[in-house]
Amino acid sequence: MSNVDVCTSCRRRHAFYVRHASGEKLCRKCLEKSLLKHIRRSLRGIGLRPRTVISVYLPRSWVLEGLLLLRLVSNIERNYGTHVLCFVPINCAGTVQSFISGLSNVSLIPYRKDELSFPSCMLNSTLHAEELARSFEPFPQAVLLPYSLTDLNEGFLEALLVKQEALSTMKKLYTYGIPWVVLPFKDLPRRDLYALAYTNELIEALNSCPPTSGPTPEISEIVHEMTIYHSELTYRMENSITALMKFRVSTPTKD
Ligand SMILES: [Zn+2]
Repeated sequence: MSNVDVCTSCRRRHAFYVRHASGEKLCRKCLEKSLLKHIRRSLRGIGLRPRTVISVYLPRSWVLEGLLLLRLVSNIERNYGTHVLCFVPINCAGTVQSFISGLSNVSLIPYRKDELSFPSCMLNSTLHAEELARSFEPFPQAVLLPYSLTDLNEGFLEALLVKQEALSTMKKLYTYGIPWVVLPFKDLPRRDLYALAYTNELIEALNSCPPTSGPTPEISEIVHEMTIYHSELTYRMENSITALMKFRVSTPTKD
């Protein structure tokens, strides 16, 4: 095996994926470990109790990412006796069911809901996730959504483009319901998720449940280019939005 093929994390296994921002070459196992680390860190942040109930919400346009999140969370939490309620669009429930056989700590709860256009659908799904979770007894200790760093950056730029209240929309998404609403993938580019989904043969779920809502191709292209060539911008977007919000709040308005 040449050096080009070796995983730069474990230095043993065959690398199949390059992270453009860091230059890391990762094997399937180390990419999965990295995603698990993000999920564990976000769950630690809410002080999850053992033998509790949590929920994962699969928005209609993020079924693949949601499925990946569900599988990883279920694997982490089954050691602690946690039960995972998974809210899934009713027309994707059959597909999702076929990918989660063997996950004994997961219950699927189909929901019926029309999806709004991008990026309003992200915030709207978060509100819907909360509404569904609150209707359950026992009340889930957390609700997890599968938005990636790429989704949040695209959402912010798209909101600016269509002259929505971009800052407040994204601020709500980043901070809404914290610590109860959790976005474990919010610091990870979408490519990381798709790469792992591909090796786990989850990618076929995209054929059955293709996204119905997304940014314009131009926005996707800008964010894609930023992620590759200006990673410092993409990774700092969340901090910048928070800082801008504070600035707006503390700056007196001219009347
Ligand atoms: Zn490795």
